[in-house]
Amino acid sequence: MTFKCFHCGQCCENVTTQIAVTISDVQRLSLFLGKSVEELIPGYISLNPFGQPDSDKYELELGLNIPCRFRKNGRCIVYSARPINCRLFPTWIVARAPLNEINKVIDKENKCSRNKYSALDQKNAKNYMKTVGTIFDFENKITEKTIPKRTVKISDFPGHEMIEALCSHIANEREREKIRIPFIKQHIKVEDSTIKAIKRGLENTSFQKLPKTKPF
Ligand code: SF4
Ligand code: SF4
Repeated sequence: MTFKCFHCGQCCENVTTQIAVTISDVQRLSLFLGKSVEELIPGYISLNPFGQPDSDKYELELGLNIPCRFRKNGRCIVYSARPINCRLFPTWIVARAPLNEINKVIDKENKCSRNKYSALDQKNAKNYMKTVGTIFDFENKITEKTIPKRTVKISDFPGHEMIEALCSHIANEREREKIRIPFIKQHIKVEDSTIKAIKRGLENTSFQKLPKTKPF
């Protein structure tokens, strides 16, 4: 099969989707768009809360602002320079989930399950993960050194009682995150020092060209 994107926007617009970016992603986007780091951060990319299921802790990481501002009229306007994490979706799930459960696993969180996958697709996805996934791991390590992760909790912020009261009536974790993530984001600012650290990191990192290969 050939993977077909239906451009539904579920992976780019759903407020609970969290898409981490590496500083090399920032560099690729900056070169592609002809925009400086300051023009991309914090308008398009900022520090975002990445939560763990059933935990009140969130790690702040460099990530796309969701709904993604690079999506216009139902299309990605930076497609050839899109972040590695965007390239890996849903390939990483296809590569790792049991073959007969791939659609179920994708659908549980991401509702991108209109494609059907064969054993050959899974083999191709695994090979793709070996190349692009390895680049991602490498860039991720550099990004974590450049911007050390900070952990926050809802209770760190004024007004958290109201948010917690609201969430206590909602059983679905995904629905609770739709309230919590925008609340935390209201209180997080990207400091000038973070932007300076990213720029220093970019000066010390060689730009990675990504392979044009597609998984399917
Ligand atoms: S969720 Fe799947 S089909 Fe929808 S835009 Fe994303 S990749 Fe395409
Ligand atoms: S960069 Fe492109 S593929 Fe990635 S979330 Fe934004 S619109 Fe979607």
